[in-house]
Amino acid sequence: MIAPQTLLKKHFGYEKFRPQQEEIIEQVLSGADALVLMPTGGGKSLCFQIPALMLDGTAIVISPLISLMKDQVDALRSNGISAAFYNSSQNFEEQQYILDACHRGEIKLLYISPEKLLSDIEIITKACKPSLFAIDEAHCVSAWGHDFRPEYTKLGFLRDRFPQIPFMALTATADKHTRRDIIKQLKLKNPQTFLSSFDRKNLSLEVKIGIKPKEKIKEIIDFIEDRDGQSGIIYCLSRKKCEETFEALKNEGINAMFYHAGMSSEARSSVQERFINDDLQVICATIAFGMGIDKSNVRWVIHFNLPKNIEGYYQEIGRAGRDGLPSETILYYNYADLQILNKFAGEGAMAEVNLEKLKRIQQYAEADSCRRKILLNYFSENPDKDCGNCDVCKNPRQHFDGTIIVQKALSAIVRTGEKESGSMIIDVLRGSKRQEIIAEGYDKIKTHGAGAEIPALDWQRYLMQMLNLGIIEMAYDENFALKVTPFGKEILYNKRKIDLTVLQVFQASDKKEKTKKTSTFSADEELFNHLRKIRRDFAVEENVPAYVIFSDATLDEMAKQKPMTESDLLLISGVGEHKLLKYGQAFLNAIIDFSPASNKKSKSDTYLETFNLYQKNIPIPEIAKQRNLAETTIYSHIAQLYLSGKIESLKSFVNEDEIVQVKEALDIVGESKALKPIYEQLKEAIPYHKIRMALAVLEKRTH
Ligand code: ADP
Ligand code: ZN
Repeated sequence: MIAPQTLLKKHFGYEKFRPQQEEIIEQVLSGADALVLMPTGGGKSLCFQIPALMLDGTAIVISPLISLMKDQVDALRSNGISAAFYNSSQNFEEQQYILDACHRGEIKLLYISPEKLLSDIEIITKACKPSLFAIDEAHCVSAWGHDFRPEYTKLGFLRDRFPQIPFMALTATADKHTRRDIIKQLKLKNPQTFLSSFDRKNLSLEVKIGIKPKEKIKEIIDFIEDRDGQSGIIYCLSRKKCEETFEALKNEGINAMFYHAGMSSEARSSVQERFINDDLQVICATIAFGMGIDKSNVRWVIHFNLPKNIEGYYQEIGRAGRDGLPSETILYYNYADLQILNKFAGEGAMAEVNLEKLKRIQQYAEADSCRRKILLNYFSENPDKDCGNCDVCKNPRQHFDGTIIVQKALSAIVRTGEKESGSMIIDVLRGSKRQEIIAEGYDKIKTHGAGAEIPALDWQRYLMQMLNLGIIEMAYDENFALKVTPFGKEILYNKRKIDLTVLQVFQASDKKEKTKKTSTFSADEELFNHLRKIRRDFAVEENVPAYVIFSDATLDEMAKQKPMTESDLLLISGVGEHKLLKYGQAFLNAIIDFSPASNKKSKSDTYLETFNLYQKNIPIPEIAKQRNLAETTIYSHIAQLYLSGKIESLKSFVNEDEIVQVKEALDIVGESKALKPIYEQLKEAIPYHKIRMALAVLEKRTH
């Protein structure tokens, strides 16, 4: 049997396992059950994919995310692993085709949705011999969780039916309640629980408090423009806000789109797909976006408003940087958010829990110690060091004696009868003479105008600190009236002093950064962008998301290391044997071409060179070798030479019968640059190079 480590390099191109992966794989190989808790992007998939390669039979992977299955299967195939999916998006014949392949022992991993597994269990188990069961997104079994799927609760029977086969449940939701539920409902047998750290060190954390909506938009536009072409997600609270934000970005020429539950499901999947394929740079979305997407190169996530709770927030920022490269997250937080969110949270049966959760995220947003520590504490982890990668660590907060400021605010609250909202209190403090104030007689109270020297926005931020410190409370069911707590009373009556945090000035520090960032791209970045283009061409041709070809992390390493030979390229993380064969030459050529030493050839030169060798009747593989180019590249030259009239006929490559078959397939899958759909439509019976040639012939005929 080949060792796990060897398979890791051979198929996935990785040098070493991440923490826990190896132990989990061993647990499964020993035939025992496992519960795997790892954050998004932690590398859960390898934990069942590698055992699947080592065990006899087919690993059954249960996942509720039908939209992800095709990409996952494509990614495995691109690594030379035989995988398939089986779900309701396929017709009967396609399903039969897959079951037959399972029966012949040709499929190592079969992805399947829970409902399909339940309905077709008999035919599935007749067709394949399960080697292991991996239940992905296992938290869906729990009615307590945020993503309950009733079919999941019916999966428990599998454990009884297959007593000898290892089961593993995987999830990125770690709370104890959910964990117990998973074990109980899936009937896992003495499972070992593997709990990885939920720390995502590559995500920077930043919170910006009290910035006006208009400035927010301006800042975000600057932010995006500074990050040439980088993918990002902006989360907004409402559909309307999504669309507005999108409009603002579009007007600046940013390639963005919005995404929310009010759109048709087709429109939504099209947006997702374009985002995954790097066709759209920015998505303005409600929280509905992200569950069904696997895009490893999201470089930043912005929250336009305070999220409802820490679980959701952590999951949303977790969509950035799955490839492990540094990624940025920013959360904007305003007084108005608090009002809206308190209202939401205060409604419904779970009001108490929801309000408590809101308080916790508020505390996070107002933190004046390391933010990551607060997040990890929330998930019951206790790191002993500050992270150095959050805005508080980078810019330690200062405190001052805020007793007088707090007393002024408290006094205004008490003297207006604890029935006014924050905005009225601020107007009183600032000495406004607006009609309502006069009508209520608030201009006569002692604190009227007592805080005129402090701008209104700053007052908002002080009130937020006071809420967070438990000095005041907001009564969401009384028009957000502010009330003084017993702790607040102690301050008001001079029984104790209180420290406040010096307000951060965000704009000034941003301008500084901006002037730094205007430098042009380094050579490595240029090469990286060039490699991305090559990746894109392959992705279009094969009709798969770009990351299936190579991740950004892999391209980044190529751009820095600049491998010039196949063996050097194989050392790059993410380059396995299969991908080396398929894409190696194209990327090596690009890197070599890019090096300053190589004199660049123009396109027509390179065609001419191929043409000269072709004229000498040298076979294509030989031409590719001599020219140090991929065979696919040579074939595309030949097709081009044919279209331009230099080569008269392609008869030696493709016969009329094959051309007719390609034409028929093309009619079914529709016009497109991609060869893969045609290849698949033809049940892989005609190789790619012939399809390419047939398309050239067909193209010429129509002109
Ligand atoms: P999860 O399912 O936990 O969200 P994935 O299994 O999709 O995460 O893995 C996230 C990324 O990390 C993928 O691009 C994967 O190829 C990569 N990865 C996983 N294990 C390793 C490893 N040992 N070394 C390098 N990269 C890895
Ligand atoms: Zn920190």
